[in-house]
Amino acid sequence: MKKHNYSAGPCILPQEVLKQASDAVLNFNGLDLSLIEISHRSKDFVEVMDNARALVKELMQLNDDYEVLFLQGGASLQFVMVPFNLAAPDATTAYTNTGTWASAAIKEAKKLTNVSVVASSEDKGFTYIPKDYDVPADAAYFHCTSNNTIYGTQMKSFPEVNVPLVCDMSSDIFSRKLDFSKFDLIYAGAQKNMGPAGATLVVVKKDLLGKTGRDIPSYLDYSIHIKKESMFNTPPVFSTYVSMLTLEWLKKLGGVEAIEKINDEKAALLYAEIDRNPLFRGVVDKEDRSHMNVTFVLEDESVKDKFDKAWKDIGISGLNGHRSVGGYRASMYNALPIESVQVLVDVMKQLEKEA
Ligand SMILES: *Cc1c(COP(=O)(O)O)cnc(C)c1O
Repeated sequence: MKKHNYSAGPCILPQEVLKQASDAVLNFNGLDLSLIEISHRSKDFVEVMDNARALVKELMQLNDDYEVLFLQGGASLQFVMVPFNLAAPDATTAYTNTGTWASAAIKEAKKLTNVSVVASSEDKGFTYIPKDYDVPADAAYFHCTSNNTIYGTQMKSFPEVNVPLVCDMSSDIFSRKLDFSKFDLIYAGAQKNMGPAGATLVVVKKDLLGKTGRDIPSYLDYSIHIKKESMFNTPPVFSTYVSMLTLEWLKKLGGVEAIEKINDEKAALLYAEIDRNPLFRGVVDKEDRSHMNVTFVLEDESVKDKFDKAWKDIGISGLNGHRSVGGYRASMYNALPIESVQVLVDVMKQLEKEA
């Protein structure tokens, strides 16, 4: 039987997508060739890339002001590409520091621009989302992280800013309905909610580009990738293909609106148990709780071995917190069924009974 997979990333994907992907690895489109042994310039793969890019726009309800790219290098390379493409060397850029990944984005941006950290939740161990802060009017852009994968906080709303809005949505992309047209640039590594590691989704408003006066290395230049329709060099073919399959799955399900409902139900179920069960405690401010990564700890460490054995025995996998913070983290990405959440909740109830 499949495990109840709570892995934070790479993470669970829909079973039917995995089946389609494995078929394509053996025989893609009836070509008697594997998806991963044909030219990325072949008609069959170009269709995949075009379809994947179109699905992103469709699911986000974005118009042709936006371009969609599937690049390599992970979200981590976007920490570099964003300042390179959107900020002149002497420009100020505004960032919020809401966790490990935001800090990593800031570290890279500092090498290329004057970073102003306009808000931080580091004072309380990144257990909340800062609100009420000002973004300098002359900032080249404002960068935020919509969901803090390691700490389990999530932005429920986005500030009204008068500068371009850039967001790292790696761990909650396509998990909820947002007005995506409020954003000027969105990026996300595929491996959290979309596909296997290897591809990184970038959605960028075209009119933002070409204004920094920088001589940008070719691979780092969004304009070049746009001109080449995301085929400047060999794209991450397998990850892009599986991402396309996941997006088709999501569209069939009813899109982000439909998945948001399911994600809300899953989150309500688990958080209710964390709040009810005296053995457990959530670690972040309630209003900022992530619906993707649920972090919690045991009130009494003496039952830890018993709890760990119980969830492992029942087939739950990947529940340990990030090595930097400890405790537990239940990552409930789009493909995790609510039945898996019920299994976890039942284990927590059972532990209470036996404690
Ligand atoms: C995982 C993660 C990253 C890093 O992604 P890579 O693709 O490994 O570079 C960045 N930001 C967030 C929010 C993440 O969850």
